[in-house]
Amino acid sequence: MLVHIGIDDTDSPNGMCTTYLGAVLFKELSRLGDPLDLPKLIRLNPNIPYKTRGNGAVALTFNIEEEDFKEVKEVVIERVKELADFSHENTNPGIAFLIGDVPEKLREFSIKALREHVSIEEAERVAKDVKAEVIKFKLGRGIIGALAAIGYPLRKFTYELLAYRKIENREKERKIVKESVFLMDSRFYPFTYDNVDRDKGSVLITPHGKDPVLVGIRGVDRGRVLQAFEEVLIEEDVVMVQLYKTNQSTDDHLVPKKIKDVKLYDSVIIRGKVSSPYWERGRHVFFEVEDETGKIRVAAFEPTKKFRKYVRMLIPGDEVIIAGGVKEHEGVLTVNLEKFYPVKLAPNIEYVKPRCPKCGGTMKSKGEYLKCKRCGYKMPKILMAVERPRGLKRKIYEVPPDARKHLSRPLVLPGGEDKLLELLWRL
Ligand code: ATP
Repeated sequence: MLVHIGIDDTDSPNGMCTTYLGAVLFKELSRLGDPLDLPKLIRLNPNIPYKTRGNGAVALTFNIEEEDFKEVKEVVIERVKELADFSHENTNPGIAFLIGDVPEKLREFSIKALREHVSIEEAERVAKDVKAEVIKFKLGRGIIGALAAIGYPLRKFTYELLAYRKIENREKERKIVKESVFLMDSRFYPFTYDNVDRDKGSVLITPHGKDPVLVGIRGVDRGRVLQAFEEVLIEEDVVMVQLYKTNQSTDDHLVPKKIKDVKLYDSVIIRGKVSSPYWERGRHVFFEVEDETGKIRVAAFEPTKKFRKYVRMLIPGDEVIIAGGVKEHEGVLTVNLEKFYPVKLAPNIEYVKPRCPKCGGTMKSKGEYLKCKRCGYKMPKILMAVERPRGLKRKIYEVPPDARKHLSRPLVLPGGEDKLLELLWRL
């Protein structure tokens, strides 16, 4: 029989990672049954506040003999008890088991967990309806992700290879030969991507926390992801390697919306007009966008670095398509920009003083008059409209790799522009 296992919320900033537990279980359970596919790493709503890092949950599917189900369950529960970081107040593990085909209702729940906020009670109701068994530890919030990972309709997917380190090394810096990552990237990009940031000269495949992940290599081609990993020179012990199939880099989270329908924790695509000049606070850049239903604040936060330069080039009247996650900033609903596309640029008109008609000198404002600095000629203050060139091009702009949400599709991948451009053709 077919058994699906979902797990989530086993980690904390102090250690562990649900994918590690998933990899341990995948290996262990492969002795009791046949895996139907690679394990799945499913990223859910990136805007919800409880997440530790990327709001990831894990699902595994096996074909097993009915009499082995009891043992499978015992193994899963044992490993969660052994490896989850129960000491952290924000770690609330959950496990889900489902036998047989995935019901439509669970698929719908999964999409809801990707795009909205759901409650533990709602997850429990769905579990009951689809006859999934859930096990909660502490608050048990993890059952939301555990069920959603099982139900996720993974039509579009990418891969991530995760290599794990020894427990005793977890406080130490990751020992990876930087140059080898750059070399690997030059051979395999864009089949594997977000390996390095060439502008900053930094390596992106290594996390920085105390979690057990040593490197993560993302890609669209499974063979190349494995080859790429072989090329990275690692100078510490690798205890386990696992390839995951994932909804990362799919843009699955983005939903086109009118501004009046935008809610907290949504991830939206909006077509509208820039309705304010940009302003800055604490290195974050803000502006407003309006459509026929309302107005909303948009932000490019400090970590998006040079992306902000392009945001500053937007002016009121520009027609744009924007995409991003909705959070509250200073009590105001704010779209946290992931990508934007200037559909139509407004003319950038500046009003300037003319040169002196008599001697060509520069004019100075004197109340209602202009006066030539050189010859003293006076004339009524009539300014000239000059159209300044716009720095922006008609192309999609995206945040740099290290500021990218896991779910956001890099433009370099096929279809990276589709979600935004869909809105272009629709209206
Ligand atoms: P990871 O580190 O594995 O990438 P994460 O650590 O960022 O992921 P978790 O520790 O798993 O995130 O915490 C996220 C919690 O939020 C989990 O309990 C999960 O069940 C829950 N959750 C996921 N999606 C939603 C949602 N849409 N609404 C409410 N809760 C959710």
